[in-house]
Amino acid sequence: MLDLLKLRKQHGYQAIKDLRTAKLMDTHRGFPVIDESKCKDGCAAAINICPTNAISSNPLSIDLGKCIFCGECERVSNGAIKFSNDHKLGTVQRDKLIITSGNSFNSFYKDAIEPKKEIHRLFGRSLKLRQVSAAGCNGCEMELNAYGNVNFDMGRFGIDFVASPRHADGIVITGPISKNMAPALTDCYKSVSEPKLVIAVGACAISGGLFAESDQLNRKFLDEIKIDLYVPGCPPHPLVFINALLDFIRK
Ligand code: SF4
Ligand code: SF4
Repeated sequence: MLDLLKLRKQHGYQAIKDLRTAKLMDTHRGFPVIDESKCKDGCAAAINICPTNAISSNPLSIDLGKCIFCGECERVSNGAIKFSNDHKLGTVQRDKLIITSGNSFNSFYKDAIEPKKEIHRLFGRSLKLRQVSAAGCNGCEMELNAYGNVNFDMGRFGIDFVASPRHADGIVITGPISKNMAPALTDCYKSVSEPKLVIAVGACAISGGLFAESDQLNRKFLDEIKIDLYVPGCPPHPLVFINALLDFIRK
């Protein structure tokens, strides 16, 4: 017993005390700061190097729903694209993920998630989620696992992943949704009782990501339902997901 207590003392307090104000390392790629005036040749090098066609011209913009945050565009853009470490990137509207030259993080974050009393009333104190890996690479799924660990401890907010959609208030989708997983995803969604949430986590779930052109996908499910929250990344850091979720249910 004494040894156990000594060990606990040695470990100290491991949870991140305030997940809302915690910062990520400077090298973390979060919100992109775009300055089109620094582009050479219309930033063609950046546009061409992007593996997911996330960059558009006129005006220069990055679609965070497609971006895998590889940093290649930053390397070749002559300073026109720089990723900041601002990580609160969740939003309720797909088009808000398109970041244009001159957009600032503060204005993005202010409008990204508008507070809704009904959402707060229903899910603000307890939210149970069922995760569906619809052909993800396991990157997003591993980060989702981390939300429950001692560092992030999402349970302290009443948010948990549950084993059955029957016990869930909503589903979290990861992966680009393969033909094989499409029926299981639909079944899972139908098994959650109303009112229910749908959260898309990662570039794959939001846009197909690196696999968007694959003929092995079946993303019709997304045409039929409304996504309530988008969490971009590849994979999103746990703080991206947690802050998006807390903004959504408690803002
Ligand atoms: S960081 Fe995003 S926008 Fe830039 S090249 Fe990679 S995927 Fe494309
Ligand atoms: S978004 Fe990236 S990390 Fe997530 S499933 Fe797709 S490839 Fe993997």
